[in-house]
Amino acid sequence: MPELPEVETIRRGLEAHAVGQTVVDLTAADCKIFQVQPAQLLEHLPGQKIHELDRRGKYLIVVLDRHYLLIHFGMTGQLTFRHPDRPDSEGFHRHPVTGLQRTFQHAPDRHTHLQIHLEGGGALLFRDIRKFGKVLLLEKGKKVLAEFFSEMGLEPFSPAYNIAAFLEGFRNRKVRIKSLLLDQHFVAGIGNIYADEALFRAGIHPARKVQSLRRWEKESLFEAIPEVLKEGIEHGGTSLRDYVQSDGQMGTHQENLRVYGQKGEPCYQCETPIQKIVMSQRGTHFCPSCQPRSGRSRKNRRSV
Ligand SMILES: [Zn+2]
Repeated sequence: MPELPEVETIRRGLEAHAVGQTVVDLTAADCKIFQVQPAQLLEHLPGQKIHELDRRGKYLIVVLDRHYLLIHFGMTGQLTFRHPDRPDSEGFHRHPVTGLQRTFQHAPDRHTHLQIHLEGGGALLFRDIRKFGKVLLLEKGKKVLAEFFSEMGLEPFSPAYNIAAFLEGFRNRKVRIKSLLLDQHFVAGIGNIYADEALFRAGIHPARKVQSLRRWEKESLFEAIPEVLKEGIEHGGTSLRDYVQSDGQMGTHQENLRVYGQKGEPCYQCETPIQKIVMSQRGTHFCPSCQPRSGRSRKNRRSV
């Protein structure tokens, strides 16, 4: 599932192709991803210029003249730019690890639910095999986005992400820390991969109850979250299954993961085999030695 680093990579990749371009036409298949009638998209989007591509949590925000088009990638969403003067790649490429089939630049197929054609001849294609993605249209207004995202948690890399607000997010919570990290009301943009990576970096066992965390452990986590997200962005995201960048290429952060997907492999730090457990139906990876269930002692505090 695309998390903050993957959506941010897509956003950056599309900027040069989409910003400043006017939408000339649109094709939207009737599909459950649309939280807006496809006919509404067709009525409103053509003729509007794309001013900016923004992001909040795992949402990509296309800022148009009169509307915001919001895209959530769900599990398998892909948003790519189809160059008018570049040939589509033939056939499928098989993922080296998962065996999953993917395309690079491709002609729209039955999984391409939305095509936004731009004045320069290119098109933005949204493809989503499992259809857990979402497409929404909001009329522009001063507080529209603030209201839409009012329940969403702290945005990493923004001024809102500060230690006081972070600590406040723990108040009255009685869940396990991994669950809290996945909760978009706490910090926005973290999913299964970066939650495991941040907990490893902070030396915190994923099944610990949040009430048991000491202040310095929370501070370590506060620092670890933007670190792992930033590294993910620097590597163009993590391509384990369907995620591709805006030009169809894979990210490379899967080669840099310390615990996620590393079950049985020696820990990067201490060589203890990484363990995998299931928490709330999500595979959860950790090092039993670097992230003891009982907590680390403060003198062993470290950042990787
Ligand atoms: Zn370890």
